[in-house]
Amino acid sequence: MKGKLYLVATPIGNLEDITFRAIKILKEVDFIAAEDTRNTLKLLNHFQIKNTLISNHRHNEEERESFLIHKLKEGKNIAIVSDAGTPGISDPGEFIVKKAIEENIEVIPIPGACAAINALIASGLDTKEFVFLGFLPMHKKLRKEKLEEIKNENKTIIIYEAPHKMKETLKDLKELIKNRKIVLARELTKINEKLIRGNIEELIQKCDKLKGEMILLIEGNQEKNTENILNNLSLEEHYKLYEKQGFDKKEIIKKIAKARGVNKNEIYQYFIK
Ligand code: SAM
Repeated sequence: MKGKLYLVATPIGNLEDITFRAIKILKEVDFIAAEDTRNTLKLLNHFQIKNTLISNHRHNEEERESFLIHKLKEGKNIAIVSDAGTPGISDPGEFIVKKAIEENIEVIPIPGACAAINALIASGLDTKEFVFLGFLPMHKKLRKEKLEEIKNENKTIIIYEAPHKMKETLKDLKELIKNRKIVLARELTKINEKLIRGNIEELIQKCDKLKGEMILLIEGNQEKNTENILNNLSLEEHYKLYEKQGFDKKEIIKKIAKARGVNKNEIYQYFIK
């Protein structure tokens, strides 16, 4: 019988943020594939877990993949852990999961901490729909494309960023997001945990002094939201909306044309008919 592949979430700072199930699985599996074995060893020692650790970092992920799949096929149960948080989320995990599925190996997630989700729920920004971008690309062209995506995105955006690059990223974003709300979630679950809420100008001023792990959350483009809502109305509904707001016919036609990005004569002709 084939073994099972467990993806075990570990704490993102506070060691108490590990589940009973995670500890049980880490004790029971045949071995643990860890992003950094020294890091994971500290966690195992803290919870008195004795098990075999093998390394599975970004640079040997593909080579490790065939070894791990081979062991799973032999019937060994394996846990994947990253340095912190949920494996596969801007961390190793994705490749081995894809390969395991191809090989009909059962993949079992063991839920726990994830920095992005915890930053989002405490941010005060919309949580109904959101976009997780992970780390922004380093490549100039790809980065530019991503920044353009952020400009037009109408859902809450979550970005991971290294502290020494934060100021540069904020400067890149400044013109694109203008007055949209922005939140910097820093050192979540640790002693210096802080969520700084404000606008981008305020954050640029403050971020020089900030150290530690950080996540940036940006309010969705509200103009795009309004645009989408209005564009989903029929022309008659759109007309009535402005009529209720007290605008006269001429103003209404102008406003509808502007909101829909069409010539006002088109709207005028429609209503004449
Ligand atoms: N797999 C992890 C997860 O589930 O969140 C993310 C790993 S990624 C390599 C590391 C990035 O996550 C950091 O650069 C930072 O943006 C974010 N991060 C991790 N721990 C954090 C914390 N305690 N507070 C704020 N951000 C954190």
